[in-house]
Order: sequence, then C-alpha cells, then structure tokens
Amino acid sequence: MSDVRVRFAPSPTGYLHIGSARTALFNYLYARHTGGKFLLRIEDTDLARSTEESTNSILEGLKWLGFAPDEEIVFQSNNADKHRAAAMKLLEDGKAYRDFTPKAEPSDANVKDAIKERARAQGGDKNMRDNEYRDLSKDESDARAASGEPFAIRLKVPDAGKTSFEDQVYGPQERDYAETEDLVLLRSDGHPLYNLAVVCDDIEMQITHVIRGQDHLTNTHKQILIYEALGVTPPTFAHLPLIMAPNKGKLSKRKHGEVVSMTTYRDAGFIAAAFRNFLALLGWSAGEEREIYSLDELVEEFSLDGIHRSNAVFNFTEGDPRKWTDDKAIWMNAEYIRTMPLGELIPFVKPELNAAKLWRDEYEDDDKEWFENTINLIRQRFFTLKDFSSQGRAYFSEDFDFDAAAVEKNLKKFPDLKTWLPELATRFEVEFGDALQKPAREQGRNTQHSNKTFTEENIETVVKAFTEEKGTKLGVIMNGARTLLTGVAVGPSMLSVFETIGLERTLMRLRSQMAWNQSNET
Ligand code: GLU
Repeated sequence: MSDVRVRFAPSPTGYLHIGSARTALFNYLYARHTGGKFLLRIEDTDLARSTEESTNSILEGLKWLGFAPDEEIVFQSNNADKHRAAAMKLLEDGKAYRDFTPKAEPSDANVKDAIKERARAQGGDKNMRDNEYRDLSKDESDARAASGEPFAIRLKVPDAGKTSFEDQVYGPQERDYAETEDLVLLRSDGHPLYNLAVVCDDIEMQITHVIRGQDHLTNTHKQILIYEALGVTPPTFAHLPLIMAPNKGKLSKRKHGEVVSMTTYRDAGFIAAAFRNFLALLGWSAGEEREIYSLDELVEEFSLDGIHRSNAVFNFTEGDPRKWTDDKAIWMNAEYIRTMPLGELIPFVKPELNAAKLWRDEYEDDDKEWFENTINLIRQRFFTLKDFSSQGRAYFSEDFDFDAAAVEKNLKKFPDLKTWLPELATRFEVEFGDALQKPAREQGRNTQHSNKTFTEENIETVVKAFTEEKGTKLGVIMNGARTLLTGVAVGPSMLSVFETIGLERTLMRLRSQMAWNQSNET
C-alpha cells in the first residue's frame, strides 16, 4: 500500500472517447503500479451540457475496459456547497474579490456593448488586473453585497510572481502571474466554476497525482493559483500527450464520433484486453520494441517516465468505412483473438453467436470438442469477435451467403466445377460413407467407427486422386470447394475445413446449386 491517490475525472458531456479512456488507463495503471488508489469523479458541474446518458456511457465504457474505482464514485455537483464555502473563505482572506460588473443577458445589447467597450479601453486581454472592483474597500464591497447587488467572485491573482511546477512528463513549467486573468470562482448565480471545483475536490479526495491531458496545462496554472490562495500544497502533475487524427489534426468527437467512442469498439467486437493494450501504447512505452502486454504486465512496467512528450497519432483512413479504426488497434485485436487461451476466448464468442442465433447448447456439451476445434481453426484469420458470426457463419449454420467475387473467381471461371464438385461429393460418399451412419460429432478426428474417417489425411488422398483424374490443378478444386462450403474465398487450410464442416454437410454443400444460380450482381 502506498499513499498514492489518483483520479479519473471525466465531464459527462459526451461518451468515453479514446483520449479520456487512455487518461483513465494511465491513472489506473499508475495506481496499480504504486499500490495506490484509483478514484472516479464525474465532473457534472456544467449542468447545461452534462447528461445522465453521457454519465452512463462513460461508466459503461469504463466497465468494459475493467477500470473499477477503488472508492465510491464522486459526483462533483454534490460538492457545490463546499466549493462555495471555499470561495467565501478566499473572499474573507482577501484572496478573492466581488466583481459587481453587470452580467450581460443575451438580450441586453447595451450592457454587452459597455463591457466590450471597457475591454477595448483596457487594451483587450493585456491588462488582466484592471477590474474596477478589484480594490474596492471591504466595507463598500460588503455593503453592496448586503444591498442585494449581484456579484461574481474572482480570484485576486497576485501582481508579481509566477506559477511553476515540475511536470512529470514535460518537465519544468512556469507562467507569469500576469498571463492569467483574475479567474471567476463563483458566478453571480452562486454556481462554482470548473477550476475551483477541481481544486476543492482534489484536495478533499486527497489526490496526490493529477494525470490528465496536455490540453489542461493552462488550467493547471490557474489551479495552482487557487491552491496557493488556499494555502494548500498542490499535487504532482503529469500531462499526457494529445492523440491526433492521421492528418495531425485534432481528433474531434463531432467529426470522428464513431472512431473515438469506446462503446463503438465494444460493439464492433473488440476485446477489452486488446484495446487496453493498444491504448497503453498511445503515448507510452517501456523503452522496448515489445507491443503485447497483459494487464498485469502493463501494471508492472508502467511508469510516468515512459510517457512520451510527442503527440500520439490515431491512424485510420478518413472516409473509408473499411478502415474506420486504427491499423494497430485492429491488428492488436486480431493478435489477441488468434493467441489468447481458447478458454478465455470462448466466453466472448458465445454471446456473439447467441446474438446471431447461431449458438447451440451442444457446443458446451456433446459437441464441445468439435466447437473448440472449430473456433481454434477459424480464429486464425479473424480480426474482431463479429467475424465469428459473419465470416464464420457457415461453420454454424446452413443459412450463409456466397460472396459474389468468390463465386465469380472460384466457381464460374471454371464451369467444369459445376459437375465436378457434385462428383467429388459422390466420391467422398463412396470412400467415407460408413461415417455417415455415425452422429456428426463422432465423424471427426480420433474416431474409429469407419475404416476411413473423414479426416485431413484421408481427405487429401481422395481429393488428390480426383484432381489428377480430372487433369486439373488442386487449387481449382480446393478453391471451388471452399466457396461452396464456406461462401468465401479465404480461410483456414481447406483440408481442415472439410474435416470441420464434416462429411454430411460437405456432401450437401458440394451438391448444392445455390451458389451457381446466384446472379452476378449480388
Ligand atoms: N473534467 C475534465 C475533462 O473531462 C478533466 C479534469 C481533470 O482531469 O482535472 O477534461
């Protein structure tokens, strides 16, 4: 156990996107690595933009990724009284002041003009201290407040000096006080503003390390001013590099919504472990070439030192729906699907098949071995869990589509196949017919019921002899058979496909004219 306490503090104004998911991951890894605590705070102070739907979507995304907070979730809006009390204390201490500048209503053109005019006269933003109420005497300020005149509370940023801190990623940072305006802490309606709320909550939650996006750097200087005014030592800060679109532009929720939302990845058949692994490498490395890390390994290897200063790029092809996600993300997912222990993969495949109405309870019972072998075979070329129910459909159902390009290339280009493939079916029937008497699950490897089992080696002998007889190439027969048996042009070794589909279904499919009758346009 250590005293490290970090938090992930999303604003519920949208779903959990790539950038915030990575922030959550880095906080989570840091907490686990140091034996500290990982906390979650929903920053729902912007009432106009915060929605419950968005909170739920963030929680769902975090749940999918497996980042459960170690303490109860904090909702920032519940702490508004504490934020107000802090602002009042700063006012009492003379660290903040009441600003009686009338608040412009959207309809109030005169007041707006007057404010603009004053700003112009003050030289725009250049002189951020030139607020006529900054040095109002305490008595006058109190009297005006007592008379009911509305006011905002602003921090009184000291005239000379600078905020400075040692960023754990970007190194020493400083900013002259003169560059920061007297920020509003409390609006005239009593609503606490963002920077005050964050500081108060981080103090209350005893946060030791603030790990968040580099886009908060300016806020950090403002927040340090608030810490100083409150007389509290600020936490350690680590800012994370940005994640950019492929053209080095900003990744925007609006423009790249689909691409950046976490639930999209979940629903598209990504495996959380793979996606976490991918996210971890967006701006962090352990200083080695390696790319595959389990969660435990990430926890072990993670350090703030390994975070990069240069922006990470999320590489997808804009406008091309087939390339809607990052190349590495999809590669990583395929890698996990291909290599993870079967026992871990199958619990993900089951709901996928279930949703597609392809699941049968026998897969966990009498046909367990067949099912596991089949999943193991077909996963080799799959990229997402969806592939099990789409490209893999022919293994689990008679109702599958024929890819038009495959039909054209592998069947229609070789018209002889139209009679040859049914003939091959008859040849199989003659050679392996005995096996048909046995239940399907017993037709596979290691069964002794027939002299000749419908297994790879035996199938190969038969197909080779058949090919020679016809004076054609093995590829022609195999590709044609593959298209009839699976509907597509690529897949695992055709001998294992025959064996996996099994004799009975192989005969039926080789004889079927459905693909042959399919029109070219589909
Ligand atoms: N709520 C802020 C955001 O979603 C993060 C604040 C913080 O981490 O300090 O960007």
